[in-house]
Amino acid sequence: AARLAFEHDRALTRHHFEEGEHPVVRIEHLNKTFDGSTQVLRDVNLDVWPGEVVVVLGPSGSGKSTMLRCINLLEKPTAGHILIEDKEITGSAKTDVNKLRQNLGMVFQSFNLFPHLTAKQNVMIGQTKVLKKDKAEAAREAERQLEAVGLLDRADFKPAQLSGGQQQRVAIARAVAMHPDVLLFDEPTSALDPELVRGVLDVMRDLAENGGMTMIVVTHEMGFAREVADRVVFMEGGVVVEQGLPEKVFDHPENARTAEFLGSID
Ligand code: ADP
Ligand code: MG
Repeated sequence: AARLAFEHDRALTRHHFEEGEHPVVRIEHLNKTFDGSTQVLRDVNLDVWPGEVVVVLGPSGSGKSTMLRCINLLEKPTAGHILIEDKEITGSAKTDVNKLRQNLGMVFQSFNLFPHLTAKQNVMIGQTKVLKKDKAEAAREAERQLEAVGLLDRADFKPAQLSGGQQQRVAIARAVAMHPDVLLFDEPTSALDPELVRGVLDVMRDLAENGGMTMIVVTHEMGFAREVADRVVFMEGGVVVEQGLPEKVFDHPENARTAEFLGSID
């Protein structure tokens, strides 16, 4: 089965496959129903390969957030399988959710920084509390990651003293400092004033292009999707309607709904 997915995916992504590579995230026949009635995800299948950047597009309510939330078990899948680094997190075997979430960085629309801690302390706290790193080491890593997002000079500022864009860059630094297997972004720039979007997207692009980070990014930023994504996935009504190379999906969408959505956004 792994072999089949490998061949199948080759045409859908800019990712350069290596022999024997395994997906970081494998989603198989994922279904999610709320309240026993509303089916929000229907038979979603998606493999994400090491270092691959997958951008998920789709109208509001199409199930994008629910899919991300199933990956880190913030939602329990109704049916189907999710594997992270070949380990199944769904099904009967008990998954250590805390351990799982260490390996899955999550960046939300709202930045969720601790308001009483400085930028640097926000980047340190997961490292010391969860990874049990000693303080000096966590501080060095925090400085490295704040520098990478261009905020070393704001290390001692509290969130309220930072712009929304700067707060989101701290949130990204915090996620990266945990060295996760994959970073999940849920509309990371949607809450930002337009002039602050660019800085956050630049940080994400740097992570993708120079950091080799495996990323699943839900966003409406079409320029980012076109330039940075290895693969674009279009969802609607809980279904992956279409996926493929960005230039293919943007310039020659096969599905009428994809075309309509892209037309309405631009
Ligand atoms: P998107 O992120 O693409 O906008 P969501 O995954 O947030 O879509 O939502 C998909 C659908 O699932 C929506 O119709 C939403 O109302 C519904 N939904 C999401 N979370 C819940 C929940 N906890 N209970 C019931 N319905 C939900
Ligand atoms: Mg959403």
